[in-house]
Amino acid sequence: MIDPTMTDPQIAIPSRAPSATATDDTVMPFEVAKLDLRGRVVRLGPAVDQILARHAYPQPVAKLLGEAIVLTAMLGSALKIDGRFILQTQSDGPVRMLVVDFIAPDKVRACARFDKARVASAIAAGKTDGGALLGKGHLAMTVDQGPDMNRYQGLVALDGGSLEDVAHEYFLRSEQIPTRVRLAVAEELRAGEGGPSHRWRAGGIMLQFLPKASERARVADLHPGDAPQGVQPHTIKEDDAWVEGQALVSTVEDVELIDPSLSSERLVYRLFHEPGVRVFRAAPLRAECSCSRENVEAMLKSFSQDDRDHMVEDGKISVTCEFCSATYQFAPADVGANPS
Ligand SMILES: [Zn+2]
Repeated sequence: MIDPTMTDPQIAIPSRAPSATATDDTVMPFEVAKLDLRGRVVRLGPAVDQILARHAYPQPVAKLLGEAIVLTAMLGSALKIDGRFILQTQSDGPVRMLVVDFIAPDKVRACARFDKARVASAIAAGKTDGGALLGKGHLAMTVDQGPDMNRYQGLVALDGGSLEDVAHEYFLRSEQIPTRVRLAVAEELRAGEGGPSHRWRAGGIMLQFLPKASERARVADLHPGDAPQGVQPHTIKEDDAWVEGQALVSTVEDVELIDPSLSSERLVYRLFHEPGVRVFRAAPLRAECSCSRENVEAMLKSFSQDDRDHMVEDGKISVTCEFCSATYQFAPADVGANPS
């Protein structure tokens, strides 16, 4: 998933001080040429708040879905596709499913399915980290560019790790690109006239090591495996540039990723001012669903006669969008169903 626009431009690059103005709901690509590093910073304010506030999920579920939204924005915006990028988990933990849809070029929507009782006991037991909520299963990333194009799907196992861990695993196994991802989500409390109000904020940074000589991109394996006794496990020395990149990105604190007063430019400047960092135009993002009466009608018409007939309640068929809670109502005859 390399951003095709991030190739070396043949133009003189103007140099300036980092912007102090933080812009919410954007994805900003950057490059640290001296270390062969590329990355993206995601900052989400109103977009993530709109999605999470609307669903009103239990707090840890909202936080986990927020992380998935940041990860999806990070990856989807890099694809330059005409279509959609879908991140979906399916697992046996209290949160059974997360779905985040990135619809090119700038729309995002998301929802979660979870077991209320199991989430409540996870909260009571204080086991609300992403890995515990997801449990075991898999995460699928799908690129869907319409019915005439092949769908591309990448799969990675969920095994009790966080979404950050899953992203690292994916890039190492599937793309063979050394990658570090940081994701942060928090509720910001603000004093107001009608009592304190809260709003969700989220952010993330992805760093990838993309040297021209591919042999430099070798990384230490995540799981060394069981070496037979007496055999020295095979160790790989990571490239100095990547060691430095990882060290720098590991210093990023959650608050830096969500702080509304710290711009994405200042954040990457703070990290990479020594080797030098070049930023690219940030792309905007917004929370918007892609459902429509026409789409729902077409979906209903694709169902079997029996299924359609069973959906009739009180003389009508009612469908609620799981992403945005919009409700669409149809007379049975509109979609070829028999009135009950
Ligand atoms: Zn919708």
